[in-house]
Amino acid sequence: MSLKVGFVGMGIMGQPMSKNVLKAGYNVTVYNRTVAKIGPLAEAGAKVASSPKEAAEGADIIILMLAGPEAIDAVMDGPEGVLAGMDEGQTLVNMSTVTPAYSRQLDEELKTRSIVSIDAPVSGSRKPAEEGALVILAGGPREKVTDLEPLLLTMGKNVIYCGEAGQGSSMKLAANLLLGIMMAGLSEAINFGEKCGLPVEAMLETMLSGPMGCTLFEFKKEMLINDTFDAQFPLKHMIKDVRFALQTADENGAPTPVGHTVFQLYRQSIGHGLSNMDFAAVKKVFERMSDSVSSSPIIPGV
Ligand code: NAP
Repeated sequence: MSLKVGFVGMGIMGQPMSKNVLKAGYNVTVYNRTVAKIGPLAEAGAKVASSPKEAAEGADIIILMLAGPEAIDAVMDGPEGVLAGMDEGQTLVNMSTVTPAYSRQLDEELKTRSIVSIDAPVSGSRKPAEEGALVILAGGPREKVTDLEPLLLTMGKNVIYCGEAGQGSSMKLAANLLLGIMMAGLSEAINFGEKCGLPVEAMLETMLSGPMGCTLFEFKKEMLINDTFDAQFPLKHMIKDVRFALQTADENGAPTPVGHTVFQLYRQSIGHGLSNMDFAAVKKVFERMSDSVSSSPIIPGV
């Protein structure tokens, strides 16, 4: 008999991920706060729960793919929450990006109910999620992660074991800190080139042909050329992740001077109304900054 999976969160990522779990033959029940987003999964054959509690009841494994800690607390707690539907022996796999401290706290709470928890955030955005090609970063008991691999590999191309509870979240924040810095760096360089009168296409060809060429820049190329930023990974989530990385860095004594600068840049995107666009729209923050830069030289006499 196939394992029963309760899947909570049908956002940009949760929809394609749960669809892949369903396609692999698992018995999937889905829940989402906004009912309209459940449609495609119901059509594909998933059962629909009317509450988080119902999604958790009787499931072997409950997967969460939610915006962040506030959303997780909202679906876990209360008489209709996931916790009210869970029983000992079940496993909770949180694939949302949160801080390692939050993952450890959730793990401690679930241990008191004899429920195993795994933090398994993902690297990769909507397209890899659709293709089942995410990289899954797992923290928790190694043997449990090994047991879960067949399920996780319906959503991802590999599972990287990162250590005890919370370490999947640490790995995810390290990856997204770098991702945020790289995208801000590319945006600054492209905006610089545009101001010098260079065409965007030629600049991207230059960057991609040389030692800086990478899949991230390749993925974002069309967005930058066409100046359209439909969300694969929304800017609001990048702001959250860089904030979480800075908090975690502080707790662990890791200096993050570049991260702090990049955080301020991403944060400005909120004021510019860009937060639901893809995080590559940080390029537009540079454009808007350019409008207000005076023509006086930064280094007098140079
Ligand atoms: P999303 O499209 O914004 O979806 C967020 C989900 O959380 C939706 O199901 C939303 O429900 C739910 N939610 C938010 N607040 C809630 C609340 N108070 N109560 C109940 N449900 C709530 O986000 P996503 O892009 O799928 O990302 C999900 C997670 O994966 C995030 O932690 C993100 O950082 C991470 N991630 C995203 C990407 C990416 O490229 N998109 C890549 C890697 C990791 P509604 O539909 O009702 O709003």
